[in-house]
Amino acid sequence: MKIRAIWNDLMRLLFPETCVLCGKSLIESEDIICLHCLYRLPRTNFHNDRENRVEKRFFGKIAVEQASSLFYFNKGSDFRHLIHLLKYKDRQDVGETLGRYAARELLQQGAFSDIDCIIPIPLHKKKERKRGYNQAECIAKGMSEVLKKPVELNGVHRVKANNTQTRKSVLQRWQNVQEIFELKDATLLQGKHILLIDDVLTTGATMEACAVVLLQVDGVKISLFTLAVA
Ligand SMILES: [Zn+2]
Repeated sequence: MKIRAIWNDLMRLLFPETCVLCGKSLIESEDIICLHCLYRLPRTNFHNDRENRVEKRFFGKIAVEQASSLFYFNKGSDFRHLIHLLKYKDRQDVGETLGRYAARELLQQGAFSDIDCIIPIPLHKKKERKRGYNQAECIAKGMSEVLKKPVELNGVHRVKANNTQTRKSVLQRWQNVQEIFELKDATLLQGKHILLIDDVLTTGATMEACAVVLLQVDGVKISLFTLAVA
């Protein structure tokens, strides 16, 4: 037995980990959330449906190979609490764990099996510095471990913090979209099928903006995934 494993067992004995949702002690195979709470989270099953609500949100806007969200982000739902921990309580481990859980479920269903790399939607530098991390990157890290595909952080970056797309004409909107993200190193992305990921999908405007920029690179294909859909 490795020292780290012995140490972990000892820590578990002294300070039993509890489920962040129901507070019950976790067993060894459980991580952050107990199995009972994990299976109770409201699932969309969108990845089995090639014309699901998430894909439809991008119809006629950008060319998407596949798009899906795993959970519903309802008011008062347990999932909201998890996202709150991830975004505002410095619980990066919640993002990584949810990323792993999500990737395992997607893998079982054969979804996103032909992607080459994962790109988390970048945060603006100022915002990332304030939070200390990018929550989408935490999710990407967890997914990467299970899908065995690399996370690419140097392909694109965010040059504008806010997304002010509402009440704009199609042309203004297009210009605005072009201004939020910028390619950093396009050669890293050439010919790749990119899985673009984020925590929650609301209007889809941010994902669209980032995808538009990525699609400017030769031979790039885009799939989209968010943990939850509002
Ligand atoms: Zn629980």
